[in-house]
This record gives sequence, structure tokens and C-alpha cells, in this order.
Amino acid sequence: MAKIRVGVNGFGTIGKRVAEAVRLQPDMELVGVVKTKPDYGAVYAIKHDIPVYTIKDSLEKFKEKGLEVAGTLEELLKQVDVIVDATPGGVGATYKPLYEKAGVKMIFQGGEEANVAEVSFNTFCNFNEALGRKSIRVVSCNTTALLRGICTLNKISRVESVRATIVRRGADPKETKRGPINAIVPNPAKMPSHHGPDVNTVLPWLDIVTSAVVVPTTLMHVHIVYARVKDNITRDEIIETFERTPRILLASSELGLKSTADIVEYARDLGRKRYDIPELVIWLESITVKNNEVMWMQAVHQESIVVPENIDAIRAAMKAVKTAEETIEITDKTLGLLHGRIP
Ligand code: NAD
Repeated sequence: MAKIRVGVNGFGTIGKRVAEAVRLQPDMELVGVVKTKPDYGAVYAIKHDIPVYTIKDSLEKFKEKGLEVAGTLEELLKQVDVIVDATPGGVGATYKPLYEKAGVKMIFQGGEEANVAEVSFNTFCNFNEALGRKSIRVVSCNTTALLRGICTLNKISRVESVRATIVRRGADPKETKRGPINAIVPNPAKMPSHHGPDVNTVLPWLDIVTSAVVVPTTLMHVHIVYARVKDNITRDEIIETFERTPRILLASSELGLKSTADIVEYARDLGRKRYDIPELVIWLESITVKNNEVMWMQAVHQESIVVPENIDAIRAAMKAVKTAEETIEITDKTLGLLHGRIP
């Protein structure tokens, strides 16, 4: 079968990771990425044999810097089946008419409004709804993490409500203009935060309320999740379920994994590129059950958690597989994703 031809518009935090993940898929071909600036990111791509395209307005800038581009975004769109839009939040929607004109399938990111696409997506929750769609929105890092946990728990007992607090990282490591540097900022002060409604774009039936604060760290987010389930399930059942679920890692503080810094250090020890941890990391000792209330704490690597879901969304749009399990198997094997207890 012919490979799925993929282009990536935007080669920043998410775009570069998705592009490299596409290159590892046996059923996909990365045709090229779009860069607007002739900066070190463009040099990196060219040096790594990733064809770089640009927008018409930037052609001259690349020429001045002596960086050769493969063509324009419009030319890239003529050669692909799917475009993954990884431009900054809100910019993706402005490109939609161009993508539509080119007749390509579109994968958008969580920084876009939900109405940018036919369906908001998480592999664990609504893979089938995305099959064959023209446009799919992969929800944000925080929403992806919440959904992975909720939809996993929902397999053993119906999740009736969720209350979650999100401790957000202040910025990605490369960002110098964001903060806070020395404060904890309610985000927003008026509750609830937008994360609950974003979960509802995928699970409209769920009663969920979230709150959020931003803290001075760049490594990961942390969530404190309270879920009310229909049945009285045991802590052991929950641990077993999380343990056997792909893309979920259980970290033990008794093993020294006491913080996001320890988790990142472990990813470095594993030799993970850019210390990526696309798995959802749940602290084993935090998992607590009281009657039908389940509580846990989880760490979320914001820069990489949505990468596997982007790969699955490409397969869903192209109907390249029939089930979530099929795509999870290929994606996780090629990306080297782990599950179960660390180590
Ligand atoms: P980023 O700023 O790191 O990367 C965006 C890239 O797009 C940059 O390379 C930028 O130069 C380029 N760009 C800017 N304007 C452009 C334009 N008009 N046309 C083409 N390219 C343009 O952003 P990011 O963090 O990768 O975020 C991308 C999307 O992913 C957003 O919707 C964001 O909300 C979402 N997302 C981000 C994270 C995260 O933690 N960084 C996590 C999950 C989802």
C-alpha cells in the first residue's frame, strides 16, 4: 500500500517532534515541513534531510541567509495527503481555507478553537469518531493527559464526574518571554478553567470542573485528579488497569521519582531525545480510593505528550487502520513508548 504523504506546517516545539515521529512510521512519508524563519530550526531540518518549505513572503529571507528551500507551502500542499498544522495557537485556523482548497486532510492542535475541525480527538476516547474525517483537532497537552487517565478508568467503571486541579508549567524551556519567574498565578482567577470544557469537546457527557495555577517551572505540568466512578472498585484494580495501558507509566516516589525533575532525569538516563516523555506519568503512591472516589496525581510532559495522538490522528483521517489498538501498537513501537511501572 502507498505510504501516507504528510506535511507539517510549523516546525516549533510540536511540529519538529511530529515531523520526526512521522519519519519513523512504516506507513508514512514526511514530504516536508514549513518554516517561516531562516533560523537554527531551519538549519537543523536541512542538516537532517528534512525538506524545508516556506511561505511566499519568506522566500527572500531564506535566500539572503543562503538556506535552500524545497518550495512554498502551496507547493508542499500539492504533494501531501495530510497536513499537520503545528503553527502557534489561532494561526492554524487562518490556514484552513488554503488547506481546504488543496483538498488535503487536516490535523490541527489544541491551541485552535474546537470548531476548527470536525472532531476533537484523543486516541483512547474517540478514535472511531475520527475515522475518515477531513479535519481533526488533537486536543492540548493538559486535555490529552486528562483524557488518557479518564478514558482508562472508564474501562473498569463508568466515570461520573471529575474535579481536577492543573499546575501548569510557566513556559516551555526555549521560551524566554513567558513566566512567572517567582509567583504562583491562578489561571484564570475566575474558576473554572478552560480545561474542563476542552475535555467535553471529546467526552460531552462528562461532568467535569477544573481549576489551574501557573508556576515557575518549564519541565512538566502536574495534575491532581478526583474522579467519582459508578462502582466500588479497588485500588489494586485501578493500578492493574493503569499498568497494562499503553502510554501510561507508573512512577514510584519510593524509587526516588519524587518530582518532575526526577522524571525528567530518568528520561535523560533512558537517552530519550530532548528528554521527551510522551507517556502520561502517574505517581503510584498517589492512587487512592475512598468508596467510589478515585484520586491520583500525574505529571505531563507538555512538549511531547500529544505526539503519539498526532500520528494516530493521521491514520484515523486516512482510515489506514480500523481500530485504536492497531494504531497504538504501531505508533508506540516505532516511538519506543513504554507502559507499566518504572523501571
Ligand atoms: P511554537 O511556537 O513552538 O511553534 C510554532 C512554529 O510555527 C514556529 O516554528 C513558528 O516559527 C511557526 N510559525 C509562526 N507563524 C507561522 C505562520 N504564520 N505560518 C507557518 N508557521 C508559523 O508553538 P508550539 O508550542 O509548537 O505550538 C503549536 C501548537 O501546538 C499550538 O496550537 C499549541 O497550543 C499546541 N500545543 C503546544 C504544546 C506545548 O506545550 N508547546 C503542547 C500541546 C499543544
